[in-house]
Amino acid sequence: MNHLATERPLSAPAFDVAGIRAQFPILERQVHGRPLIYFDNAATSQTPLAVIDTFRDYFCRYNANIHRGLHTLADEATAAYEATRETVRNFLNAADRREIVFTRGTTEAINLVANSWGRANLKAGDEVLVSLLEHHSNIVPWQLLAAQLGIKVRVIPVDERGVLDLDAYRALFTERTRLVAVNHVSNAFGTINPVREMATIAHEHGALILVDGAQAVPHQRVDVRAIEADFYAFSGHKVYGPTGAGALYARAELLEAMPPWQGGGEMIKSVSFDVPTTFADIPHKFEAGTPAIAEVIALGVALDWVRGVGLERIGAWEATLLERATMAVSRIDGLRILGTAPDKAGVLSFVVDGAHSQDIALLIDQLGVAIRTGNHCAQPLLAHFGVTATCRASFAAYNTLEEVDAFVDALERVIGMVR
Ligand code: PMP
Repeated sequence: MNHLATERPLSAPAFDVAGIRAQFPILERQVHGRPLIYFDNAATSQTPLAVIDTFRDYFCRYNANIHRGLHTLADEATAAYEATRETVRNFLNAADRREIVFTRGTTEAINLVANSWGRANLKAGDEVLVSLLEHHSNIVPWQLLAAQLGIKVRVIPVDERGVLDLDAYRALFTERTRLVAVNHVSNAFGTINPVREMATIAHEHGALILVDGAQAVPHQRVDVRAIEADFYAFSGHKVYGPTGAGALYARAELLEAMPPWQGGGEMIKSVSFDVPTTFADIPHKFEAGTPAIAEVIALGVALDWVRGVGLERIGAWEATLLERATMAVSRIDGLRILGTAPDKAGVLSFVVDGAHSQDIALLIDQLGVAIRTGNHCAQPLLAHFGVTATCRASFAAYNTLEEVDAFVDALERVIGMVR
């Protein structure tokens, strides 16, 4: 595909990337007459045939509303939907499937915690710690509560590599700290945060920890009990599944004590105008209205697919891609990588002297390469590093070393054009 590919030895752990690619029809398409190189996986990953086929199967055979029908299709849809709850429980190693609440994704999961747990447990003057690495969806829900309840949002700083400063983190705790909200892996820089250690510190101070796992679950095995997460959120569309379905894990005793957030069908036991309305048991108390049934079922298939390939193997492969890309782009004159943590997932964020990130992304798209440019919904982090946008290439199981080389070639061409 690319001259560099034949010049440089392709040493890598054995990984059947061709076999994986064959399961992703979208990877066969051309963009502007060139083979698609899809390096925007941190925004949304592509879906394998097993997931795509799930939709066809569902709508051709058993499309029905769940939990309330006494007919075969409703039973089948309910069984498949609830089976995904077990799949997610197993995927996260949660103790109990009642600890898994389906949401539209990470954003909705965090908003659920803020609006249910937060409103019930936080008072004016209480403090929530968020890190400078957070995605806006783990900042703004807490800022909304700050405006409405008078809580304080305090920020865990990072060093010049984009690594959280754990001494500063420890020093931020006061007797008013109630919650730490931190991502497991940063979408903007790829930093993998020491959430296990952070959970221990939070718990020592009597605070809870919410972990935003949107960028972690596609790349590494997550065990919510081992990391002692109180809350853990993720989205299906970043882990080879569909948009519209994700999950919140929360310890059962927390969920039991939390009030409902959204009201409607499915989340009640009984409704009356005369005596208080009563609510369904967890997790259904938090699943008001008709959920994204096909999407949730397809999410289960995606998680099975990922487990089938093996998260350790995917993580190792992506590390190889990242290392090759990092080494190659480091040689480009005037290119600066943002996010140089020793512990990183497959995300390469960079800026180039004299070249606008937007121009780079637009021109490289003409060469068939999809990367993302912008603030990656992490404006405070980028502002801290003195930039408003970066280019970001992010990798998935189906990307190849040849694609990395072609991307670097394309990047060099594009930089030559815009400078
Ligand atoms: N957190 C992180 C770390 C993310 O990368 C994203 C998506 N870019 C989100 C939260 C929000 O996810 P969603 O839009 O699927 O709710």
